[in-house]
Amino acid sequence: MAHEPDASELLWQSYGAVFRGFDDLTLARWMAQTLGQLQGGIWRLSHPLLASYRLAAQVANERQIWHQRMVNAPADYPQVDCCRAPLVPMVTRDLLDSGLICLHCNGTAVSLNNLGQYQGALVKWAKAYQPVHDVAHWDDVRRSAGGDYDQAFEQAADEAERLLAQLGADLTAPLLELFPAVIWEDQDECLQVRPEDIPC
Ligand SMILES: [Zn+2]
Repeated sequence: MAHEPDASELLWQSYGAVFRGFDDLTLARWMAQTLGQLQGGIWRLSHPLLASYRLAAQVANERQIWHQRMVNAPADYPQVDCCRAPLVPMVTRDLLDSGLICLHCNGTAVSLNNLGQYQGALVKWAKAYQPVHDVAHWDDVRRSAGGDYDQAFEQAADEAERLLAQLGADLTAPLLELFPAVIWEDQDECLQVRPEDIPC
């Protein structure tokens, strides 16, 4: 659905202009080289290299760069079904609904039931996270029923920080057994949890 971009989206669109200035081959080479640098790593979504790569990926997706096979991605990256880009999965709080998200097109890159022995721990984490996140979206009735909403929000934000730290520290690293690189979402904007709130 089309919507008016907000100030933040406009800013990111302007950041992305640098990649719109690349020709297709230059863009494909930049991405292949950067995938080489991401390989073998667990990355926070807030990492500037990731932010840049996502901007490039957006332009590449619009131009269908990966369909053109102009460059080879590093060999360890299999092709993903959703958009035929190299597979770089993101672990986000939408895990239960969307599985692991494709860094290139934001579609489902890997469904939950393809996570083998790692599925259980991730599902358990996501089920614990959901009610915590939901506090940010309580309606007025729920807010007044719960007593001091500011305090409930604060508690939820603290719990979200703890759970996100657990995600980054314990739950994503094993996924490197399955994937060449793994990204995890290290913030929750609805609960005002910022990347710097989650210790390295
Ligand atoms: Zn995709």
